[in-house]
Amino acid sequence: MTANDVRQVAITETLNRKPVETDEILPLSDMWACDVFGLAAMEEALSKNAFKAMKRTVQTGEPLDPATADVVAAAMKDWAMRKGAKFFSHVFYPLTNITAEKHDGFIITNSDGHAITEFTGSLLIKGEPDGSSFPNGSLRMTSAARGYTAWDPTSPAYIKNTKNGATLMIPSVFMSWTGESLDKKIPLLRSNAAMDRAARKVLSLMGETDIAPLNSSCGAEQEYFLVDKNFAAARPDLLLAGRTLFGAPPAKGQEFDDHYFGAIPDRVQVFMQDFEDQLYRLGIPAKTHHNEVAPAQFEVAPYFEAANVAADHQQLMMTIMKATALEHGFVCLLHEKPFAGINGSGKHVNWSVGNSTQGNLLDPGSSPAENLHFLVFCGAVIRGIHLFGPLLRAVIATASNDHRLGANEAPPAIMSVYLGDQLEAVFNDIKDGKVSVTSDGGIMDLGLSQILPFTRDPGDRNRTSPFAFTGNRFEFRAVGSSQSVSGPLVAMNTILADSLEWMAGRLETELGSGKELPEAVATILQEVMQEHGNAVFGGDGYSSEWHELAVKERGLRNLPTSAEALPVFTEQPVIDLFASTGVLSPLELNSRYEVYAEQYVNSISVEAKLVIELAKTVIYPAALAYLKELGSNYEVAAKFGVDLDTSTASTIAAEAKALLASVVELEAELGKHDFDSVAAHLEHCAKTLRTLMDEARVHADALEREVADSAWPLPKYREMLFIR
Ligand code: ADP
Ligand code: MG
Repeated sequence: MTANDVRQVAITETLNRKPVETDEILPLSDMWACDVFGLAAMEEALSKNAFKAMKRTVQTGEPLDPATADVVAAAMKDWAMRKGAKFFSHVFYPLTNITAEKHDGFIITNSDGHAITEFTGSLLIKGEPDGSSFPNGSLRMTSAARGYTAWDPTSPAYIKNTKNGATLMIPSVFMSWTGESLDKKIPLLRSNAAMDRAARKVLSLMGETDIAPLNSSCGAEQEYFLVDKNFAAARPDLLLAGRTLFGAPPAKGQEFDDHYFGAIPDRVQVFMQDFEDQLYRLGIPAKTHHNEVAPAQFEVAPYFEAANVAADHQQLMMTIMKATALEHGFVCLLHEKPFAGINGSGKHVNWSVGNSTQGNLLDPGSSPAENLHFLVFCGAVIRGIHLFGPLLRAVIATASNDHRLGANEAPPAIMSVYLGDQLEAVFNDIKDGKVSVTSDGGIMDLGLSQILPFTRDPGDRNRTSPFAFTGNRFEFRAVGSSQSVSGPLVAMNTILADSLEWMAGRLETELGSGKELPEAVATILQEVMQEHGNAVFGGDGYSSEWHELAVKERGLRNLPTSAEALPVFTEQPVIDLFASTGVLSPLELNSRYEVYAEQYVNSISVEAKLVIELAKTVIYPAALAYLKELGSNYEVAAKFGVDLDTSTASTIAAEAKALLASVVELEAELGKHDFDSVAAHLEHCAKTLRTLMDEARVHADALEREVADSAWPLPKYREMLFIR
């Protein structure tokens, strides 16, 4: 079989595919959360007292006493074994974006050699994976590699089913033996606690006496591509890097806008229903799904949940999507930019904070008190985005997301906040001191009369803003599709915590000086807008005018690549932010910088190696073989007295030569290893390696346009994007 035959077989096989039938379709009521040991299952399985203690822990994060943990462990084991589980596993979230598991059997043998099962509170609570191969950014020497996982009772345990059995999965944190966080869950829990502490101070200064624990919420919209497995198998770049490193644009791309919200192709719909059924069993509330802008691109959005649970569910969802896609003959691409020239994929993270007594604090509400809460919390967000915009850029900095940001399809790499016309006008009036306050300590005239009729769903949606207010929440639109949502949530919770602490201090002063609450709030918000209003922007974030204005007049930072964004983790204000809120110690923060920097370097190095390999062993040989064929064709024609136009051959020869030259140079640059600093190494990847990879691609794609279709070895864009 020649290389091209592989491509032709992929096309034929894909054309012959039929939707995969799913075994049995259960009604939602039978399916919903049936594999989750959540509050409902616990109420059935636990004694009244144990259930009450557990419920308190789930709802308030209060620690569980060891005796109750034993009771819960026993009930959990019985429940899981009834569902066929023989193994249990702590699930944890190391600093890579993946989910890690370590499985252990319930089984032990007693002295008579009989098998019995055991699962105690201490096994439930603590696990000890050999963590030495997880990235830890110098937090742990390999020789002292002990890492612990510990049960997070606030995220429910569940059953993971495979064809051959079931495993009890226990969401956990992951830390070094010295207690440093090696994962993405610990900072998320801490950031939520920091936000809770600060928000309580503010709310009680605002006169609230009954304040339930505050939680952040997250609803993430996940975009992804589906490509037939046959094509992915014939594209080493898709297989190993998750994106095409070569590929000429197809004659038709997304210009007709005929895919967005169009009818979902049959095979895809069957896949969606299959994976969503699995989500339902796990209590993950998949709510909407539709086609996205690019051909072969889709979106799924679960209903929002408490951030910690949403983050675990998001990880689980990505795992399930990838595994289920394979069963349906697809590869699910979560990469931010699998195909050049058409839209990439993001993960909009919708975020709000609230509790059961005051409600959603980012909802303008309908009463004056709710309005005041909203103004204070929204003002705190504005301050945070202005002070820590570069941090928000840093938490979405990955090699893959760089392809998408600022590429006229995704938000720019400058962090600003979009409020919508109405709300922006309110905050501008506050800034200009146009808000008057009634003398009886009542409500703000202008601000409130303007804001009361505020519609929850502002008609105008600004798709060009990285951070947009959308009626009752903020939507962080710059997050990448393959990322864990935890980093962005940690950043948002932490900057909010910091701003609320500041607000609390200012409120204390203003109220102490005898001002009534509305007047105090107006004063503080005026200060916020004067100091930090530069972060508010409602215009076109894609425009070059904004890029000028943002940097030159507004003093905002533009950090186009991860190489520029990641070092933000080492800046003093960011170190202070995480230390003062107790979310990450300087050591823990620095370990993140090291790990993310290493991941960036690794991703680009792997891609560079692939570019070299594919160029040298697949594309260059195909071009030369075709050149040879052209040469003999010219000879044949000459025998018949015809001089064929040889410009195709000249182009191919020249492009092939240039391709080889650029990968030879790339190879030399890839061999360089002595850099003065991590930052210098990052820059080398961003500026030198990436540029040479792009250059190689230009020549390879030119060859694809010249070489006969029958002689081209790699599946083409039109095939991967349009055949399914
Ligand atoms: P869009 O119109 O932006 O496509 P969708 O309604 O499809 O939005 O999804 C928006 C996401 O935001 C969903 O996951 C939804 O559950 C979530 N969401 C809605 N309200 C809130 C809130 N108060 N806090 C956090 N997320 C929310
Ligand atoms: Mg959205």
